[in-house]
Amino acid sequence: MSSEERPFQTSLEPFRFCPRCGTSLSHRFLFGRERPICPACGYIVFYDPKVAVGVLVEQEGKVLLVRRRYAPGQGGWALPAGFVEIDEGPVAAAIRECREETGVIIRICGILDVFAVPIDPRGPAVFIVYRGVPIGGVLQPGDDALEAGFFPPDGLPSPLVFASTRRALWRWRREKGFTGRRF
Ligand SMILES: [Zn+2]
Repeated sequence: MSSEERPFQTSLEPFRFCPRCGTSLSHRFLFGRERPICPACGYIVFYDPKVAVGVLVEQEGKVLLVRRRYAPGQGGWALPAGFVEIDEGPVAAAIRECREETGVIIRICGILDVFAVPIDPRGPAVFIVYRGVPIGGVLQPGDDALEAGFFPPDGLPSPLVFASTRRALWRWRREKGFTGRRF
């Protein structure tokens, strides 16, 4: 796990109105930095990273990947992944995303890594990558995937999109004893 992290960049349009009551926001120094606060209802806007989850699912020495239908990374291969909904935990989100994108039902059996994703068009994120094993379902790409399949460490598809995908797969291949060129 690397301790080198770039600071997150917020390229998001700042809030101008209170998302709760619609009043124009003002700014105050609160909890260590200047933050938008609603003068009417007291709502404080915290700009914090989104939480994303992915899963490295292994079966008979092969890893489950999906080819993305939509941007970002459109047409490229990545781990089954998505954002955590407000009413679910990260493990449930990882199981749900995997089932939605690949049809494969999994059990989470560990954690591979936690990545900082400082720059993303949807906002910066903390990306938790679990390890999983299939326990059911039928392999079939979901609505937001063009293809889904299992690939051996020496036969990964191309292109792999996202630095986190490449780093997770690089680590997985290294565990398998592959020492080839970094991708
Ligand atoms: Zn308000």
